[in-house]
Amino acid sequence: MGEVGLWKHRGVCKQALNETIVEENLFKREFPRETFRFQACLYRKVVVLLYPDDLPALFCRRVASSFPDVFARISVQSFLAAKVELCKFPKTFAQQILRTWAFGWCTSRRMHEPICLPCLFCCGAGSDCQVHYFSCFKLWEILGSIDGEPLPADGLAALGVESLSVVALVRVVAASLAYHHVRASRFSEIPFQDGTAKF
Ligand SMILES: [Zn+2]
Repeated sequence: MGEVGLWKHRGVCKQALNETIVEENLFKREFPRETFRFQACLYRKVVVLLYPDDLPALFCRRVASSFPDVFARISVQSFLAAKVELCKFPKTFAQQILRTWAFGWCTSRRMHEPICLPCLFCCGAGSDCQVHYFSCFKLWEILGSIDGEPLPADGLAALGVESLSVVALVRVVAASLAYHHVRASRFSEIPFQDGTAKF
């Protein structure tokens, strides 16, 4: 951060510095023989103040726009609770879940491709957009044939935010990986309603 950046954020820096000094004093009182890592503590505080975690709010906005009829079932608090659960998963799993909750799948609709493709699982009932996949009976039948679980009640339930059960969250990971695998490696094999296989 240059001189201009520091000046611009002087209030944040001052707050972080004051909080670090307070924390250092408490630490020295409690652990007089230990070394307080002042710079590391200051760095953590500055980062949090400059870049607050707004993912829960982002997830809420995305869910609200994707499932407006049932959005009232969840809140920012739902995602704050989910954050604790995600810490129990390997990072690669958690990354897929976060990607899904941010509605960040690389669908042709999201990527603004010239042609919005039909559902890549060939259900014939929807287009290549993430909202559809969370109510796509073909995709969830495939997942159900593997784990033996019933179809989710609706798209929002399929996201796993409400239940936060391990099964629901693993299914989200499986759905994301299955979609991106099909999207990346099997374009030419996907049959469409007109009998062709093309992209
Ligand atoms: Zn479908």
